[in-house]
Amino acid sequence: MAARLRAAGFSDKDIFVGGPNSRKGNLVATLHGSGKRKPLLLLAHLDVVEALPEDWTIDPFKFQEIDGYYYARGSSDDKAMGAIFVANLIRYKQERFVPDRDLIVALTADEEGGDSNGVDWLLKNHKALIDAEYALNEGGGGTERDGKKIRNNVQLSEKVFQSFKLEVKNKGGHSSQPRKDNAIYQLAAALTNLSKFDFPVNLNEGTRAFFYRSSKIETGQLAEDMKAILQTPPNPEAVARLSQFPNFNATMRTTCVATMLSGGHAENALPQTATATINCRILPGEDPETIKTMLIQAINDSQISVTPVKMANPSPASPINPEVFKKIDVVTQQLFPDVPVVPVMSTGATDGRYLRTANIPTYGVSGIFGDVNDVRAHGRDERIKVKSFYDGQEFLYRLVKELSTSTSVKRND
Ligand SMILES: [Zn+2]
Repeated sequence: MAARLRAAGFSDKDIFVGGPNSRKGNLVATLHGSGKRKPLLLLAHLDVVEALPEDWTIDPFKFQEIDGYYYARGSSDDKAMGAIFVANLIRYKQERFVPDRDLIVALTADEEGGDSNGVDWLLKNHKALIDAEYALNEGGGGTERDGKKIRNNVQLSEKVFQSFKLEVKNKGGHSSQPRKDNAIYQLAAALTNLSKFDFPVNLNEGTRAFFYRSSKIETGQLAEDMKAILQTPPNPEAVARLSQFPNFNATMRTTCVATMLSGGHAENALPQTATATINCRILPGEDPETIKTMLIQAINDSQISVTPVKMANPSPASPINPEVFKKIDVVTQQLFPDVPVVPVMSTGATDGRYLRTANIPTYGVSGIFGDVNDVRAHGRDERIKVKSFYDGQEFLYRLVKELSTSTSVKRND
């Protein structure tokens, strides 16, 4: 990428390549603007999820075009956006476009895992290189169903990943002489209590906008319920019906669910230990300590210890920036007429959390559409439609230009 940028006329001082070691490189390239406004950061990660060739029908690490799709590990997550941002930066340079702010492209390491996260590293070591008014990132994108474009998603926030370990101890003994106190029964009762518990509904600016805009796409009872939960207080029957959809339930509230279980040490012994892993996905803005307290109340057994598995890395939600949303609406209508823009909260995580924590609001948006029933990121035979790739390139080309041209910007409308 650095070589291509140099060949397009970017000078060495505007291309930074570095990282904690040679295998964990990050690239930051800047197209200088007039400096009227704080820079715009365009972020994509270079690393990919592991892929075992024997699991795939084709070589996961060989880029191929087959029947209108680009196939390869990373083709959709997230090399498409990285390629698009660099190609568009070169296109602006060739046009001699002078944005009203610096446009910064950052391609980074270890989003999917590993201990050399590039965004974290850049923020700690070279903050000035990527400091921006706000950033565009993965995490959004368009949804298609049966070839029809349904919505263009903009990710505003992410839930926070936090697991807890429940543990109960017992003195144990010979299983030929059982007693009523039993570590496995005790843990099972606590888990049954948890299974009946729901965290309170807590909508924020972004998830309210999600349900409001979704209510215009859906019809019938579902659309009515989406409107009814926006009342204060939310309509309880509507909450109950929407809670039956896992994705809407996870959008309305923090969730904690049992994911792993172990106990006992021998077939013929009373268990001395039983443990369970509870995986929570905490709403942005809610305190993990408060969630732990509520979890302890829900399981309702003071003999069971509750400890965090790893410290959570909470990040705030990005505000609905009117300029950003206006421009996303405008470009969406130009390229995909009548497709609504819908703000979303991801139940998974991206590197946006590091930026949001560093006061750089981050918007997950790409204009790259994929079928809702054909999501292959992190899975086998990952692919992206060739047409979707080039549509996304044009979408981001126009959007970034709109966001860096003062004359076309009216604040607060
Ligand atoms: Zn990704």
